[in-house]
Amino acid sequence: MLKITNINTYYGQVHALKNISLHLIAGEIVTLIGANGAGKTTILNSISAVTPVKGGEIHFSGNPIQGLAPDRIVSLGISQVPEGRQVFKPLSVEDNLELGAYLRFRAREGRGAIRHDLEEIYTLFPRLKERRRQMAGTLSGGEQQMLAIGRALMARPKLLLLDEPSMGLAPLVVQEIFGVIDNLRREKGTTVLLVEQNAKAALKMADRGYVLETGKVILEGSASELLENKEVQRAYLGRD
Ligand code: ATP
Repeated sequence: MLKITNINTYYGQVHALKNISLHLIAGEIVTLIGANGAGKTTILNSISAVTPVKGGEIHFSGNPIQGLAPDRIVSLGISQVPEGRQVFKPLSVEDNLELGAYLRFRAREGRGAIRHDLEEIYTLFPRLKERRRQMAGTLSGGEQQMLAIGRALMARPKLLLLDEPSMGLAPLVVQEIFGVIDNLRREKGTTVLLVEQNAKAALKMADRGYVLETGKVILEGSASELLENKEVQRAYLGRD
């Protein structure tokens, strides 16, 4: 469904991604693992066109998407949940969710379908329903993460790009959020590219993973292979 071939991304003089190639098959959960600054967020931003890519190719569902505007990428079915959630704090929970469907409103899609999806998000995250009129800035960190995911889902993505969903959250909340991601894949077939500091939790849920170091893929494999790999254990998994 997604195929990245030899992309390079720069921030001024900083060569952040060096000939990165990776792919996702429809329905997979794939995780990117690596130390701070390895280039994980830059890969997501390169796919979503937040950051321009130099050279190489990005294909989505067989079509080249490189050079398209970010809103076009969303319309094609790729939504990103950014690092740090970035919800619209002065707006209500429901307004945030509706903004996720902005391009659908713009395309004059019927209100009924959007309303239906809103109810689905509330079923996935009942806490958001209870707080639908509450200002997003007053939600807890976990609730804001749920809102950020819900907002991305309102665009009806085929591919969800998730940047560090567990950051700063208590273990039980992380479990809850990972449970929802797993359900989405099972029930809707949503494909997920997941960036996580919590490599162990990510690999336990993922099908496959890529390990990044200073802008390069240094290792790739099935999640179980990576979980058992001694180098990965030493560098990224810590002790139990
Ligand atoms: P983290 O886990 O800390 O978020 P990461 O693996 O997601 O790290 P990136 O954020 O993709 O890493 O950063 C890759 C490299 O690009 C780093 O060296 C970083 O300093 C650099 N970089 C990222 N964003 C910018 C920017 N806007 N301007 C300049 N350099 C940047």
